[in-house]
Amino acid sequence: MFSRDELERYSRHVILPEIGGAGQQKLKQARVLVIGAGGLGSPLLLYLAAAGIGTLGIVDDDTVSLSNLQRQVLHGTEAIGRRKTESAAVAIAGLNPHVRVVEHTERLTPQNADSLIGAYDIVADGSDNFDTRFLVNDTCYSLGKTLVTAAMLRFDGQLSTFKPWKGAPHPCYRCVFPEPPPPGSVPACSEAGVLGALGGVMGSLQALEVVKELLDLGDSLSGRLLLYDALRGDFRTVKLRRDPQCRTCGDRS
Ligand code: ZN
Repeated sequence: MFSRDELERYSRHVILPEIGGAGQQKLKQARVLVIGAGGLGSPLLLYLAAAGIGTLGIVDDDTVSLSNLQRQVLHGTEAIGRRKTESAAVAIAGLNPHVRVVEHTERLTPQNADSLIGAYDIVADGSDNFDTRFLVNDTCYSLGKTLVTAAMLRFDGQLSTFKPWKGAPHPCYRCVFPEPPPPGSVPACSEAGVLGALGGVMGSLQALEVVKELLDLGDSLSGRLLLYDALRGDFRTVKLRRDPQCRTCGDRS
């Protein structure tokens, strides 16, 4: 049940017939794991916390540095040198004390992926490297967890939802990107740069898709990739196909 304070806090959600008190209760009961408390994770965590997600897990082993602050709006100047998980927990507690934050100050590895992801209902990946993205995809598939994943570089962002555990026609990340690109072939944001507000756009969209999945609202992004070209000011979606030969979710795997 909600306190009077919570009912007022979430009143703009509750007034929406598509959410209502029952939907808001679902959000309160939800456990969402966010991977990466950086450029995507910042708006993602802030909007999920503001929305009243009951439990937010945060996986990040990094500390806040000065060059993060151009886009990682979750962290303030005073947080430089502190763990991102800790800085995020402080910011979230200030925004919404009803959210339980679980700090996982570690890297996601093949050794801990099952136990970390297994403790949550849904995963939002805002990590910055391909090894993590593939590991998250494969683990979410084997544990039957929905994955909302986003990525960005320079002026371009992409976003999709993967739930291949539901079976055909739902593809997984590996159906679309079979292998990580060779090391060095795709630059990181630290090498190629990224416009800060792009993280705000993509991370906010990611938070919105997480809420949609939790409440079964509208059309899922499963099977579609949303592309944002910031310089053109243009969004488009492309269809994604399940690969029957996929090493993760294919017929022979
Ligand atoms: Zn697949």
